[in-house]
Amino acid sequence: MEGMLVNLAYEVAAYAGLLVVFTLLAVATRGREALEWRPELRQSALTNFLILHIGALTGALYFVTIAPLVAAYDSLGLPQIPPSAWQDVPFVIKALAALIVYDFSLYWVHRFLHTSWLWPSHAVHHSDPELHFLSWSRGHFTEQLVIAACLVFSSSWLGLDIKEIYGLALVQGLHQYYVHARIDWDHGIFKYLIVSPQMHRWHHAEVEDAYDKNFASIFPVFDLMFGTYYNPGSCINVPTGIGNNPDNNVFALILHPFREWGRMLAERKRASGTTESA
Ligand SMILES: [Zn+2]
Ligand SMILES: [Zn+2]
Repeated sequence: MEGMLVNLAYEVAAYAGLLVVFTLLAVATRGREALEWRPELRQSALTNFLILHIGALTGALYFVTIAPLVAAYDSLGLPQIPPSAWQDVPFVIKALAALIVYDFSLYWVHRFLHTSWLWPSHAVHHSDPELHFLSWSRGHFTEQLVIAACLVFSSSWLGLDIKEIYGLALVQGLHQYYVHARIDWDHGIFKYLIVSPQMHRWHHAEVEDAYDKNFASIFPVFDLMFGTYYNPGSCINVPTGIGNNPDNNVFALILHPFREWGRMLAERKRASGTTESA
C-alpha cells in the first residue's frame, strides 16, 4: 500500500512537471487564454487519469505488458537481428533506427486501428472532446495491448534488449504527451521532420477533410509517403471528438468497444439471416 502511494506521488509529480512545461509552451503560442482550464477540460483530464489506472488494473497497459511480450517474443524464437550486429554502431544511430522502425510499424498499426473492426477500441482515444496532454492516457486496454505488441515486436526484431525497449517507450510516450498538449505550433521549418501538436490535433479533428489523416506518431515522412499528410494551419479551435461519443463517462468508455463489437456482430447476423431468407 505504501509502495503504491509512493508510486502515485511520483506519477502526480511527473504529470505536474509536464503540465508546467506544456503550459509554458501553450502560453508562448496562444497567450493568456492558454491558462484557462474550463470545467469540461478538468473533467476530461480526470477521466483520462482514471481510465489509465483502470487499464493498469487489467494488466494490459502499454508499459505493464512490455516484459511479458518480450518473453513471448524470445520463447517463440522469432527472427531477430543479432545484438552483436550493433556492436560498432554509435548509440545515436541505433536509437534513431529503432525509433524509425517502431514509428513505421506504428503508422500501419494506427491505420488498421481506423478500420471497422478495430475502430471501436481506438475510438476511445478519439472520444476526448477536450484534447489536452493527458488525452494520450485515454486509451482502451485492448488498444494498449496492440500498441505494446507493435513496440516489442518491431524492437525485438531489431535486436534491442528490454532496457532499450523501455527507453524507446519512454521517449515515444513523452512525445505523445507533447503532441496532445494544447500548444498551437507546427514546428516551423521542421514541420515535416517531427510530428507537431498542431499536426496531431488535426488527426483528432471532427472535420471531414481531416478524417483518416496524420497517422504518424513521430515522423511525418510516413504520412507524406503514403498520402495521408494533412495540415492546413492552426487547429486549436477546431472541435475534436467522435460522433457517438461516450464523452467523459469512464465506465461507458471501458465498455464502449465491447458494446460496439456486440452491435456489429448482431447486425452481421441479422444481415446474413436476411440474405438466407431472401
Ligand atoms: Zn487515430
Ligand atoms: Zn491522439
